[in-house]
Amino acid sequence: MRAALSIVVAILSAFFCLNASAQDANPQEKNRSFQEYAPWLDPSLELRDYHIHLRGGMTAEMAAERAKKTGVRSGVLENHGREWPLSTNEKLDEFIAGVEAVNATLPDDEKLKIGIQVNDRDWYKTIDLKVYRRLDYVLADTMIMGKRPDGSDERLWQLPKDYDVNQDEWFERYYKHCMTVVSEPIDILANVTYLPEFIAERYDELWTEERMTALIQAAIDNGVALEIQAESEFPKPKFVELALKMGAKLSFGSNNFDAVMKDASAWKRNIEKFNIQKENLWRDASTK
Ligand SMILES: [Zn+2]
Repeated sequence: MRAALSIVVAILSAFFCLNASAQDANPQEKNRSFQEYAPWLDPSLELRDYHIHLRGGMTAEMAAERAKKTGVRSGVLENHGREWPLSTNEKLDEFIAGVEAVNATLPDDEKLKIGIQVNDRDWYKTIDLKVYRRLDYVLADTMIMGKRPDGSDERLWQLPKDYDVNQDEWFERYYKHCMTVVSEPIDILANVTYLPEFIAERYDELWTEERMTALIQAAIDNGVALEIQAESEFPKPKFVELALKMGAKLSFGSNNFDAVMKDASAWKRNIEKFNIQKENLWRDASTK
């Protein structure tokens, strides 16, 4: 298996060098990272990457090819919401139909799971149920929080390092936001316990065990998996340890911006540190 994976890595390296976007500073660096993680991957985990965006040149066909080469199965999605690519039920229907057409050419065990990442908090009231039923899963994160007094959203990754706000009040609002998102009819919560740069150094103080426990319990009660995301330092080890102890399910994701494979060393770190087994992983209903 290890020898086979080495060949796979070589093929992948060539493949992704050819497809790397011009803006990417150092795609070889990322390929090297993949070489580092591929040989340890235990096939019995039946790992699936449920967070592959079809954007920036990434296609459903490429996701299917990647799965065959790496042994990590693929779940593909795109952003759903008023200001996002899947802004209407018609566009969502087209997106699903596009992946279904690729799936029609694949054997059953290679078919892609089809999801959406929901960015509006009333998504479940506006989505057409006939379209919704064709999805394998719904993923959300807490990276967009509304509304400020001027009516605009706070996009957490865009907040300045010197964001001028009462930090304790801000965190209280954010914590409530996290508890709201985890209570929606979603399947996967991504970038769990994320904190923007202006407040990130207060992680241990703000994300108390009591708050972590409440969030994890809400996820368990609502059947929501907690995502370990490539290239994200969230959630921190303390949270993952507690989540596993409480019996929560985990999910693994890339959250790519283009066709270049992400550095999955965060997956490796967590799988090894916590000896994550197949039974710790969330699976969509059709895979169970
Ligand atoms: Zn995403």
